[in-house]
Amino acid sequence: MKTLQKPVPPGGTIGIIGGGQLGRMLALAAARLGLKTCIYNDTADAPAFQVTQQTIAAPYDDLAQLGAFADACDAVTFEFENLPAHAIAHLAEHVPVRPGTHALAMTQDRLTEKSFIEKLGLKTASFFEVSSPAQARDAFGKLNGKGILKTRRFGYDGKGQAKVSNVEEAIKALESFKGAPAILEGFVDFSYEASVVAARGADGAFAAYDPPENEHEHHILRRSTVPSRLTPAQVEEAKAIARTIGDALDYVGVFAVELFVGSEGALLVNEIAPRVHNSGHWTIEACACSQFEQHIRAVAGWPLGDPRRHADAVMENIIGAEADAWETLAGSGALHLYGKKEARPGRKMGHLTRLKPLTRR
Ligand code: AMP
Repeated sequence: MKTLQKPVPPGGTIGIIGGGQLGRMLALAAARLGLKTCIYNDTADAPAFQVTQQTIAAPYDDLAQLGAFADACDAVTFEFENLPAHAIAHLAEHVPVRPGTHALAMTQDRLTEKSFIEKLGLKTASFFEVSSPAQARDAFGKLNGKGILKTRRFGYDGKGQAKVSNVEEAIKALESFKGAPAILEGFVDFSYEASVVAARGADGAFAAYDPPENEHEHHILRRSTVPSRLTPAQVEEAKAIARTIGDALDYVGVFAVELFVGSEGALLVNEIAPRVHNSGHWTIEACACSQFEQHIRAVAGWPLGDPRRHADAVMENIIGAEADAWETLAGSGALHLYGKKEARPGRKMGHLTRLKPLTRR
């Protein structure tokens, strides 16, 4: 078993599980710090494979390949959370995995995650376990109005979710999940959505970015804007929420807390993403240390970088065929394209960040 008493020095190798755009931007940030990366992905056409020294293409539960991966790396992280827990546990026996298996397990299941958030004394939507039609009936009865039924595991970008307005719809939605256990959440009539992207170092140091305001279209993030409409007191509250969560998980690395901002100004936690986050992409241009560099620093045991924002920013995702307009986009901001061959509808192909002079923090 390798341990990490000291930081991974320049020339060392950080392992990244998942070769999508997040893995790609993590690898680019690592390269800037003189660190190498080895990327593990379940297919050979991963966008991140284009920018890394070493690659492994194998299923995520292939223990032999995970062993070889552990041998090649000084520390390992991941860019998406829907990984088989037993595979990560196996990996963690051979090489430091940051964030650890505890943080991953806690955030992989919506019921465990929401219960954890509630125990910390933080606000969240009301929620009920729903594994059977009888539970769906019971849970809907306890809701005061509409709800959202969500599968407990493996949901992203609105997948495994259904808005329900009556008991019959709740039961039908549960059936459409084909036996997958679910939770029913009360529908939050929020004013807008925001998020905090924050980091915790191996020594417990904490750094949070200014929370952006996030707009979604068809369940996919369209735009993140900083500064948001949050008041300075709400910004501090949002960062304090992230700190409470990071400390409770003994977290190492970057994570995001997605928030609903209620009409009265209350901040409700929607979910925790145990990884770098789409709503933090603007930090590449608008902060001295981006979320990607910050994550690599934390995973490698380096001091955290400065998260302060030196510009206002708007980040927009480039989705599907929108990437065909790359020449126009290239002329209108900081363009990032992820090297994906096929522009399928709903696929994140890149993003564009526009900066403006700093108005306020
Ligand atoms: P999630 O997969 O939980 O991040 O949900 C995706 C999106 O669905 C959120 O960003 C919200 O726009 C919406 N949403 C999720 N949960 C709720 C809720 N309880 N009330 C209202 N809208 C929700």
